[in-house]
Amino acid sequence: MIRTVLERVKAFVERLKPEAVCDDCITERLNLSVRQHANHKTRELAGTAGFQRPIGPCALCNAQKKVIRVTRP
Ligand SMILES: [Zn+2]
Repeated sequence: MIRTVLERVKAFVERLKPEAVCDDCITERLNLSVRQHANHKTRELAGTAGFQRPIGPCALCNAQKKVIRVTRP
């Protein structure tokens, strides 16, 4: 059961593995209220093992910006 926003963001990024996704797309796809919300969550995730937050193309909108992805195989 997925409850918190952080868990939803985490599950979403893991589903897109090995692709990377930007905060805006996370906000849109998960229907989060404000951009700051996804931004805060991805920063939190990037601080945990298995996640990386490089600048790169987003798999969903193709924008070159801060994205997050799963690093483990
Ligand atoms: Zn995007």
